[in-house]
Amino acid sequence: MKYRSTRGKVEGLSFSETVLEGMAEDGGLIVPEEIPVLSEKEIEELRPLSYQELAFKLFTYFVDDIPKDNLKALVYASYQTFRAKEVTPVVKVGDVYILELFHGPTLAFKDIALQFLGNLLEYLLEKRGLKVNILGATSGDTGSAAIYGVKGKKNIALFMLHPHKRVSFIQELMMTTVLDENIHNLAIQGTFDDCQAIVKSIFMDLPSKKKFRLTAVNSINWARLLPQIIYYFYAYFRVSELEKKKSLRFSVPTGNFGDIFAGYVARRMLGKERIERLILATNENDILARFVNAGDYSVRNVKPTISPSMDIQVASNFERYLYYFYNENGEKVRNLMQTFAKEKALRFSEEEIKRVQEDFLARSVSEEETLQCIAEFYRRYGYVLDPHTAVGVKAGLSFRDGYPLVCLATAHPAKFPETVSKAIGQSFKLPEEVERLKYLPHRVEVLPNDVEAVKAYLARWAIL
Ligand SMILES: *Cc1c(COP(=O)(O)O)cnc(C)c1O
Repeated sequence: MKYRSTRGKVEGLSFSETVLEGMAEDGGLIVPEEIPVLSEKEIEELRPLSYQELAFKLFTYFVDDIPKDNLKALVYASYQTFRAKEVTPVVKVGDVYILELFHGPTLAFKDIALQFLGNLLEYLLEKRGLKVNILGATSGDTGSAAIYGVKGKKNIALFMLHPHKRVSFIQELMMTTVLDENIHNLAIQGTFDDCQAIVKSIFMDLPSKKKFRLTAVNSINWARLLPQIIYYFYAYFRVSELEKKKSLRFSVPTGNFGDIFAGYVARRMLGKERIERLILATNENDILARFVNAGDYSVRNVKPTISPSMDIQVASNFERYLYYFYNENGEKVRNLMQTFAKEKALRFSEEEIKRVQEDFLARSVSEEETLQCIAEFYRRYGYVLDPHTAVGVKAGLSFRDGYPLVCLATAHPAKFPETVSKAIGQSFKLPEEVERLKYLPHRVEVLPNDVEAVKAYLARWAIL
């Protein structure tokens, strides 16, 4: 499989180049030349496979430049770190299915991609005799998942900026108790926006970018999306069998449009008769719900909510959907993204809205509704939802229409104990492995809110 840019000016990339480059040189995102559509027979052959076998088999459709044995070893190594044998178990709660994606080392679904990406990068770098320094900023979840993805990996160092004293207690513990030499936690005396501004400014300074061999592992990397396709298949097989039904709906709590785009790819591969539609759930940062319901993709201010990992206005993976929506027309996407950069808004016609609604149903869920949903699930079923998952469940329940409903659980409730305790009206006990972190030694470097201070740190510690 070759890869190309959504903006039409780059093509013929191999899978390895796609992973190492992250973003296309024409400013677009990288997508496969073709999304394979599986036959009935191919699909049924996948049904009995274990999670790892399924992942390996599906990856071979998209990866043709890594020997099969090596690819298989990478997959198996990546999911060994999960606490659940099934990796992403599906549990029935009331009459909905919860797809638990939070059994990885940092208790959130980002582990599913980042555990694989860490192993994959180490493999690709070793083969090519390269080294990289990963630079990123985090408001919490992505940082810890990236740290656990690359800790101890050869030829990779990671520099993760977070706002000093402004991430949750648990998120901070998860990041700073990782003592591996290649992990550098930099607590910046400023806000998350300050951290992002520093990272952006260093990436834009091309001589520094080159000198420090900098790269990013953000969610636009194709290797972040590919592993997320697997669990849609895995859940589809379990739930369609239990319900004896061919057509299901998935509800996906959405921020950057990454997870739901993986669902879109799975739907193209499996067919619309299997995944009837995807339910796009947002919190009060509702740009994507406005897009689906009214054709209004216009940026407003980001509002902080109790589901912070979805407090996003510009969804970086949205461009990938536009590319397929306009039948893989790179020029059209390029023009739209230019308009968007200027006007901070895109508008879609009635006819286009209708077409979008053949793929997605969407709803924005308020703070109050999110808390109520957590409370109700706890009262009725004794099951505790995290706030992100609750957004997805609430939206999903609005669009049943007789279809079995699978709701993606993107984080473990233990990551958000204050909100969850408030919702269920009693203190929420942390699981053992989180409690344990409190007693571990930690390492963090506090730096002023200053680009030069971060550059000086890189000059000292980047691997070259
Ligand atoms: C990142 C994240 C999301 C949003 O996922 P996208 O791929 O950005 O849409 C939802 N829930 C949790 C817990 C997350 O960490």
